[in-house]
Amino acid sequence: MCDLLQRNPDETTGGVGVGSKHGNTMARQKVIEGEGSSGGNKPPPAGRLSPHFNPDDERFDDELRPQKLSEVVGQRKVVDRLKIVLDATLKRKEPLSHILFDGPPGLGKTTLAMTLAKEMGTECQITSGPALMAPKDLLSYLTNASYGSVLFIDEIHRLPPAVEEFIYPVMEDFRVDIVLGEGMNARTINMKLKPFTVIGATTRSGMLTAPLRDRFVHREHLDFYDVMELTEIVQRNAKKLRTEINEDAAVLIADRSRGTPRKANNLLRWTRDFATVREPSGNITKPISERALAMLEVDAVGLESQDRRYLSTLVSVFSGGPAGLSAIGHTMNVPPDTLEDEVEPFLLRLGFIQRTPRGRTITIAGLHHLGLQAPDQRTDSTAQGELF
Ligand code: ADP
Repeated sequence: MCDLLQRNPDETTGGVGVGSKHGNTMARQKVIEGEGSSGGNKPPPAGRLSPHFNPDDERFDDELRPQKLSEVVGQRKVVDRLKIVLDATLKRKEPLSHILFDGPPGLGKTTLAMTLAKEMGTECQITSGPALMAPKDLLSYLTNASYGSVLFIDEIHRLPPAVEEFIYPVMEDFRVDIVLGEGMNARTINMKLKPFTVIGATTRSGMLTAPLRDRFVHREHLDFYDVMELTEIVQRNAKKLRTEINEDAAVLIADRSRGTPRKANNLLRWTRDFATVREPSGNITKPISERALAMLEVDAVGLESQDRRYLSTLVSVFSGGPAGLSAIGHTMNVPPDTLEDEVEPFLLRLGFIQRTPRGRTITIAGLHHLGLQAPDQRTDSTAQGELF
């Protein structure tokens, strides 16, 4: 059984927590029961037909999260490698080596960390980079870490430098160096910790410093899922939510989920709410999911209004680009980080935009998606090319 614990950073630091995944409660809190918990089969919270539905909502993640590695759909190569590492560690009765997962949001980084802890039969503490504002915020997690347990640090690229330096000896030698006093009177006390596993997750592996990256023995990149994998996730989760869905409808939802299980789950929830209200049987059919997703403004390739706004801003304000990320962010009034993490990866994958050294540009495919004709494009660089 995995005892998953998370603590509110505000409790110790007065800082600002991030993301619902990292909790807002004051006490150390058990967030998931291990095997045998009824989490997956609980009646879901009542649905509401709301225009403010957010397909990236993380609130319901835990209810549908796979509990074992064998329940994880897709990411076959990653899962196979993790299985080897896991089996070897279980055989040797050692703690797991430190693992880093990177990839866009909602692809299963937290899920894999939690299933690994469960498979190890150990407890798992959860925190995140921005929540650890000072080394002292990390200290209570370290002293609570039992032999072989897992400490999951989400958004690890956002660890402040002081905490990052503090964590190096922790990961390497399971030791903390505490400096007491200042100047001439400063003394360092070493404190031994029980060996445990740090599992880091990041949407920006490029922002990790080399020393931190190198302390992770295993590094795994998670990629977008294909439609078949997402269809399987939708069908399995419909069962967990005790909802009838036919295959065509599951494929349609999968197709519009931008390769992301979290989106697939949330679109499924929305469609279920829609079916409950608009379809007497409450069953999800293809026409029902088409109507539900149209109401949510999710288009045929899975773009949402924010994605289309990004593309149209690039066209209307920046003449198709190149435009800098922060300029686009300021124009849209959306944090550039959000655009980089949540909007751009899928647009890049669809080939609707390009990232060039001079900024973002829209492609012909992107223009066609907006129903626009490609202008006679003589970019500065081609014009320059002709000059020389
Ligand atoms: P991340 O940590 O990468 O942002 P999560 O691990 O929180 O993403 O995944 C979001 C949700 O998507 C989970 O609650 C889970 O239900 C679902 N999910 C993610 N990966 C998988 C997978 N491989 N198989 C089945 N469901 C998945």
